Amino acid sequence: MLKIDLHTHTLVSGHATNTIFEMIQVAREKGLELLGLAEHGPKVEGGPIASYFHHSIRLPRRLFNMNFIMGVEADIMDLNGLLDLNDRHLRLQDIVLAGIHREAGWTIKSPEENSKAIIEVMKNPLVHFISHPCDSNARIEVEKVVKASYEYQVPLEVNCLHLGYHVARGVDIEDIRHMIKLVRDYRWKLIISSDAHVATAIGDDSIIDKMKLRDLLSEDIILNSSLTDVWNFLEEKRKKAKT
Ligand SMILES: [Zn+2]
Ligand SMILES: [Zn+2]
Repeated sequence: MLKIDLHTHTLVSGHATNTIFEMIQVAREKGLELLGLAEHGPKVEGGPIASYFHHSIRLPRRLFNMNFIMGVEADIMDLNGLLDLNDRHLRLQDIVLAGIHREAGWTIKSPEENSKAIIEVMKNPLVHFISHPCDSNARIEVEKVVKASYEYQVPLEVNCLHLGYHVARGVDIEDIRHMIKLVRDYRWKLIISSDAHVATAIGDDSIIDKMKLRDLLSEDIILNSSLTDVWNFLEEKRKKAKT
């Protein structure tokens, strides 16, 4: 069970089942230390319009005795690192993930192209994390992407929801294993998230055990195993984005 889950979705995303308040209450009941609400970007069908990301900043970040942060899982739109939310809106978010989504119009591309797009996105100082980089629908060149993750200090994600899809589709998870091992070699960090679209899935990382990945994923390489590390990381990013 994750104590810090940085990537979940609410009704705002268009295809998730719970309200913001419900998600926060369930996170508190489950004993989480911090919940991240990273809604889909405007290009995902049914997703919020861009101005949502302007208004959401008005919500206090502690409700029902639970700390949470709000942001976006923006969509990577092209090979030059264009996202579906502009920098003005990204700058207002507590947390910015960016990922490739076929639901936002990404067509099948080569691992070289997918990697290029992700690496270009990492160069944007407003982007904090890359969501589900080893997705079976958008294969990458793992070595190149992990190297860039380290260079640009943009951690990659082990996404529990997508791990489940891999299992369901019978897809080999060798890329994910490879990614984790390389992150370890670099003495770098990644995040593990539930990507919960239903409140009951908040913090659920049981698929990590099912896929026998737990031994590879020791706390020293997981940024979200420490609240202090997460706050420091986000603060560092904020400072860099200002310069
Ligand atoms: Zn996603
Ligand atoms: Zn997501």
